[in-house]
Amino acid sequence: MAFADYTSEGAVAVITLKNPPLNALGVGLRGAIAAGLGRAAADESVTAVVIAGSGSAFSGGVDAGDYGRADLSAAPSLADVCLLIENSSKPVIAAINAAALGGGLEIALACHYRVAAARALIGSPEVKLGILPWAGGTQRLPRLIGPERALNMIVSGNSSSARDLEEYGFADVTVDHGVLPAAVDLAARIVADKWPLKKLRDVRIDFSNAEEFFDFARSAVAPLARNYPAPPKCIDAVEAAVRRPFDEGLRMEKVLFSELLNSPQSKALRHAVVATRLASTVPGVPGAPPRPVKSVAVIGAGTMGGGIAMNFANVGIPVTVLETTRAALDKGLATVRRNYENTLKKSRLSKEDVDSRMSAITGTLSYDDIRDADLIIEAVFEDLQVKKQVFEKLDQAAKTGAILASNTSTLDLNAIANFTRRPHDVVGLHFFSPANVNRLLEIVRGAETAADVLATSLALSKQIRKVGVVAGVCDGFIGNRMMNAYFRQMEFLLDAGTLPQQIDKALEKFGFAMGPFRVSDLAGNDILWSIRKRLYVEYPDRVFSKTPDRICELGRFGQKTGGGWYDYKPGDRAARPSDLVTKIVFEEAERLGIPRRAVSDEEIVDRALCALINEAARILEEKIALRASDIDVVYLTGYGFPDFRGGPLFYADTVGLPNIVRTMRGFALGYQPDAWEPAPLLKRLAAAGKTFANWDDTA
Ligand code: NAD
Repeated sequence: MAFADYTSEGAVAVITLKNPPLNALGVGLRGAIAAGLGRAAADESVTAVVIAGSGSAFSGGVDAGDYGRADLSAAPSLADVCLLIENSSKPVIAAINAAALGGGLEIALACHYRVAAARALIGSPEVKLGILPWAGGTQRLPRLIGPERALNMIVSGNSSSARDLEEYGFADVTVDHGVLPAAVDLAARIVADKWPLKKLRDVRIDFSNAEEFFDFARSAVAPLARNYPAPPKCIDAVEAAVRRPFDEGLRMEKVLFSELLNSPQSKALRHAVVATRLASTVPGVPGAPPRPVKSVAVIGAGTMGGGIAMNFANVGIPVTVLETTRAALDKGLATVRRNYENTLKKSRLSKEDVDSRMSAITGTLSYDDIRDADLIIEAVFEDLQVKKQVFEKLDQAAKTGAILASNTSTLDLNAIANFTRRPHDVVGLHFFSPANVNRLLEIVRGAETAADVLATSLALSKQIRKVGVVAGVCDGFIGNRMMNAYFRQMEFLLDAGTLPQQIDKALEKFGFAMGPFRVSDLAGNDILWSIRKRLYVEYPDRVFSKTPDRICELGRFGQKTGGGWYDYKPGDRAARPSDLVTKIVFEEAERLGIPRRAVSDEEIVDRALCALINEAARILEEKIALRASDIDVVYLTGYGFPDFRGGPLFYADTVGLPNIVRTMRGFALGYQPDAWEPAPLLKRLAAAGKTFANWDDTA
């Protein structure tokens, strides 16, 4: 049978789920379970049924991409399958070999008994997609493990091992090995000893502190409820499980689910998950087997080099860090150690972990020590001449087949590749600061980068728990190119007398983790200043606000100098509005003769988003990004764009592209109109009534 095997162990029928890799509960697998149950019911020689997982999952549940598609409700629905299991007249036992998540957990909960591998992960991650368990899970889980533990799992979406849930009575039997034989044994015992069919629907929850508990839970999720409506509704559903009969709770769960499924937040969160998965697929690359990467070298132990090295040490890949002087090397390695020790202090690493990770990192001053490295990542000064020296040396020293990567943010990767005699082995691996924390990795494909180098980079990004997105060569690649356009517009707002704190606040209210001026103060205003200085030369016609340069001329580089767009007290990262900056902003506005006007938060957000969207449209048309959803992934993972808005281009589609074009045309009537000419692709899509998602479907 496709999707599931039906076999017998004596009088026990075993339905083994077979929809690799995660036994996703599409209509095919659901139908196969229903068919297996029907066959077992009709066969008089069968006395009990085991539903077993296979491979690395019992079932990972419904695929995030299936929500909102016809497959989701196609018969038999997940809820139908759960009812079929629960109403079976023969006992049904779940054999949970590995992950039972979402719909997978729902199936396990509908069974009369459960046998679980101790290490199997159990969870209801639906809330992370902006929805809730919807096939009875909000009603059955509290009846099995108690409302407190169940609410915690459903609201957080976090999973626990079956061993951790043992004390809450999750499984009837928890074993270290041999889940299936244990389940078959249990089935035989149930039949022999005439155990009852345990249906969770029949359990009544006795919970004396309900009032207090649910009030507390509601107050905990209330502050985020505007942007994340699912958690409060999870609480409503679990409260129904406590206070109402099962069928009533089930009806309520269904209503809450369909409200959430249609919410813009859930659509955005689902888009983010599907887009992230898609980003790792690159046309033409799947055929290329990755090169093995067993050892890594990093050139430069500065801000980025140290953080980059940590990523590999964290997953047990030995790293050699090369510097020019002993002092620079010692300083870089000491920073790495301090970072690990800070994590140790927060109890997120053990002393042994720190030691083993530090021992995976070796320092050197000699290229002889990196000859055997499979991957070498350069993170030296952002200066083409310095890069040239390094890549010429790497070309001499590195073994044949080694991948040579550059972490450059702005320089021409093709020029860097051509400093070697092996440009096909050269790729950009653009990490973001802090490199050991930020999840984004832009993988920059040079004109000659080989397919297997790209395949290796994509595989490696997963191994070091980053989200890899492929970008073409251009100034700033995807992320920083868009950021430059966005920051430039925000700086023009200063010219109209708008203060940095108002701009930041408006964008943070929209959902950005940080507004642009707080970001600048954190990253270092000097870094952005040096980028601007280069742009002044390379794009002499492009106009910029003068205010950021005036701030830098005062040495106000941000947090590291105790002042930037904001003032900072020593040892305190809290940004305090600066009187001096206010004075400079107003002086500049006056000097330019721009009448000061009240700029609304909505206008600030529109200007920021339109700038991002317009640059993104150019990036797409130039094929710097493979697809619109990749651009969303870059902003969601690397730039603190709010996940409940799905990324800049998903947001643009939600607003409607004709509306975006109209807003830009309005801006073009005012100050600095040149940047507001809509990109050709944006205009074409808007005129044709299309979306960026349509572009992805046809590209
Ligand atoms: P940094 O100045 O902190 O560190 C550079 C290090 O390289 C220094 O320790 C220096 O001693 C060393 N170095 C210089 N020349 C060398 C050589 N020939 N051989 C070996 N080591 C040498 O700079 P950084 O901020 O870490 O930036 C490094 C690279 O990463 C740059 O290309 C930069 O554009 C890029 N980058 C930086 C950031 C960021 O936020 N800082 C983010 C992404 C990418």
